[in-house]
Amino acid sequence: MSHLLPVAAGMSPETLRGHTLKIGERLRAASAVNQVAVVPRSITVTTDSTFIRSHDDRERHLEVRVGNVETGEGGRQVFGAVLRLASERGLDVDLHVDESGDPAATALAHVAAAVLRNRFRGRVVCGHCCSLAVQPEEQIRRTLDLCAEAGIAIVTLPTVNLYLQDRSDGRTPRWRGVAPVHEMRHRGIPVAIAGDNCRDPFHAYGDHDMVDTFRQAVRILHLDHPFGDAAAMVGPVPQAIIRAGLLGTIVKGGAARLILFNARTLNELMCRPQSDRLVIDRGRQVSAELPDYCELDGVG
Ligand SMILES: [Zn+2]
Repeated sequence: MSHLLPVAAGMSPETLRGHTLKIGERLRAASAVNQVAVVPRSITVTTDSTFIRSHDDRERHLEVRVGNVETGEGGRQVFGAVLRLASERGLDVDLHVDESGDPAATALAHVAAAVLRNRFRGRVVCGHCCSLAVQPEEQIRRTLDLCAEAGIAIVTLPTVNLYLQDRSDGRTPRWRGVAPVHEMRHRGIPVAIAGDNCRDPFHAYGDHDMVDTFRQAVRILHLDHPFGDAAAMVGPVPQAIIRAGLLGTIVKGGAARLILFNARTLNELMCRPQSDRLVIDRGRQVSAELPDYCELDGVG
């Protein structure tokens, strides 16, 4: 595993996507000729890479990519090794797993089992988890029970996965590509809504606008009738997952970082793009304009 850890350090997963793919290609090539002791032969490294994002106590991000580990044997060894490594360094673990429509993809279950087996005490967050939705109901129940027991938090990426999953030329998609979020929340598993791709090969659209992401998430995941606490999935829930202090909450004496919408209800928030929103940062209105598209050429 020495050639996998660490492979790169950086601040933004999006800008590192291309690098991830290059590493994936290199590992794919290397695995045939250069088997490393703790990486079993059964692991298939694909360009749909898993990566682990963590930080040390100086807040420097360390990102480690290990590729896909879809087999039982491979999953056990890789996730156990990753968790032991994180334990030794006192790190949390952020994994992107099962981002496919393949019912045989079971990394999430292996992560949960590894957390319990290793008695891992840090935070484990798993993103995507799409394949779960195409597995038999009993298997979904078993995996989610394990996740709840292991204290795993989930990040669902509805815009990206609606776009990417079940896509093939000339064929209409048959499923929405998203994780079984209601079933997760029903078990008390913390679920945050996010998007990890914007105007790139994995998701052609987006503007890094969480209001847009939330609005689409409500529609794609049926988080309405009633809305209930759905909005918490873009505020207090991710705040708690990453232990971000008071971000995402409004409290007396807080930092007054707010967005004011021209809407009286969540329904009204959902129906317009809210381009006239007022963004307030520490009590002051933010006057910055959105960049022109031409300023974004070459960004990515
Ligand atoms: Zn991802």
